[in-house]
Amino acid sequence: MDKTQLLKDLADIVAPMPVLSAPEEMLVYECDGHTLDKAPPVAVAFPTTTEQVVALVKLANRYDLPFVARGAGTGLSGGALALDGGLVIEMNRMNKILEIDYVNQQAVVQPGVVNLHISTAVGDAGFYYAPDPSSQASCTIGGNVAENSGGPHTLKYGVTTNHILALEVVLPTGDLVHLGAATLDTPGYDLTGLFVGSEGTFGIATKITVRLMRKPEAVKTILGTFATVNDASNAVSGIIAAGIIPAALEMMDNLTIQAVEAATGAGLPLDAGAVLIIELDGIANGMEADASRIADICNAHGCLGVRVAKDEAERALLWKGRKEAFGAIGRLTPNYYTHDGVIPRTRLPEALERLLGISRKHNLRIANVFHAGDGNLHPLVLYNEKDADELQRTLAAGEDILRTCVDLGGVLSGEHGIGLEKKNCMPWLFTEDDLDVMHRIRHVFNPDNRCNPGKLIPLPSRCRCGAVTGEPDAIDLQEAVAAATKDTHVRS
Ligand SMILES: Cc1cc2nc3c(=O)[nH]c(=O)nc-3n(C[C@H](O)[C@H](O)[C@H](O)COP(=O)(O)OP(=O)(O)OC[C@H]3O[C@@H](n4cnc5c(N)ncnc54)[C@H](O)[C@@H]3O)c2cc1C
Repeated sequence: MDKTQLLKDLADIVAPMPVLSAPEEMLVYECDGHTLDKAPPVAVAFPTTTEQVVALVKLANRYDLPFVARGAGTGLSGGALALDGGLVIEMNRMNKILEIDYVNQQAVVQPGVVNLHISTAVGDAGFYYAPDPSSQASCTIGGNVAENSGGPHTLKYGVTTNHILALEVVLPTGDLVHLGAATLDTPGYDLTGLFVGSEGTFGIATKITVRLMRKPEAVKTILGTFATVNDASNAVSGIIAAGIIPAALEMMDNLTIQAVEAATGAGLPLDAGAVLIIELDGIANGMEADASRIADICNAHGCLGVRVAKDEAERALLWKGRKEAFGAIGRLTPNYYTHDGVIPRTRLPEALERLLGISRKHNLRIANVFHAGDGNLHPLVLYNEKDADELQRTLAAGEDILRTCVDLGGVLSGEHGIGLEKKNCMPWLFTEDDLDVMHRIRHVFNPDNRCNPGKLIPLPSRCRCGAVTGEPDAIDLQEAVAAATKDTHVRS
């Protein structure tokens, strides 16, 4: 490949926006929020229009160059890494809210719009965008769509897929397609649903129609303090079993509480074994009764105290503590490895007990801050990447954590995606036939596997795509896939 010519061709497409390619500039793009795996791209291009994205994708095809879309790079599974020296198509300059339709409760946005900016834009009119990843002040809607992101409030309102109505997508071939519609239902296959959560392997979203929700009439935020994570876990099960679905039901353990309190002064009890943040929202009538039932359930499970946020400032501070918890953990350790396994929530006490065992076995501290209502764990393994032995123990602990989730009837990821990080664990959950179907669907969208190769599903041990499409037979396809995914990334 003639790199000088490539850079010139890229610059011609995105001018006057820059094309980055200097080695020191590539350091920023060699990984996402999952810093264990790194792979520098050949270049980073910043399109500002759909036409430019189409041109970039067609150019990558001409150069036989793998490419990957990138939003804010906050992903936690290595999804935005450009493997094999590929091209990064950085979407954060396509960051306009194009239309807001309050009557039909929807907005059309470009993919680089930051999640929180939608709620900010429509807040004064009494609306918001519901999925609220803790990274919402920086992550983009394009990244949310790719990862099918969740957040504290998705317990009651559903994850990203429940809030996306339509998409404009540049396919890996450079064709432009429109999936879904502004109406609530569309005939034909649910391709919008298929695209959401495809982790950037089906193409690049260039326009996204999101649902807007009306702000609830009333909100009540409760902090429950517990002596042990076990008591807090049992309270979570008790609340859900009582038929109450709070808007959010989040847990933080003592290690997390220490870090969050030092970072934010959120008013958390430093001697608690765990706290629950429980938020109710909806119509004001009856909310007091639900809050009092929740307090009773917490008390029945050994709760040491229940505090209701007295005003919006106190509520905001509690959420600041929760949403900045990952960052706060940085006070305790040079590095941490974030996991995202899911277990049936009734097995929370058992899961947390087993996490304690994993922490002891590998002699590593594990902090827990997670979406307890969904059974979506976020064990953060604290380590120092400069200590080779500790790094190895961290990876081994990570594997034990994921195995535990699967053993308990759960899955590998609740919201951060599989990416590069967990693709080799997929056979723990899926049979060869299951994975084969996924490969065949990917082949329909991404026939040359140039769009974000090496992510989500392991290379096929066999593939029947040729039989379906009449294109190259299975062996040829496997070779093509292998060639496009030469795993040249570095694990630190
Ligand atoms: C502190 C912190 C807290 C977090 N909390 C949460 C949380 O509560 N819930 C949660 O779900 N996640 C959370 N995350 C993970 C992360 O923020 C989400 O996965 C988010 O959706 C990633 O968005 P991004 O813009 O940073 O995407 P990136 O990291 O840039 O990319 C993620 C994936 O999206 C693809 N992609 C990006 N843009 C497009 C596009 N336009 N078209 C097609 N594919 C695209 C990329 O190729 C990549 O595969 C957290 C991360 C951090 C660092």
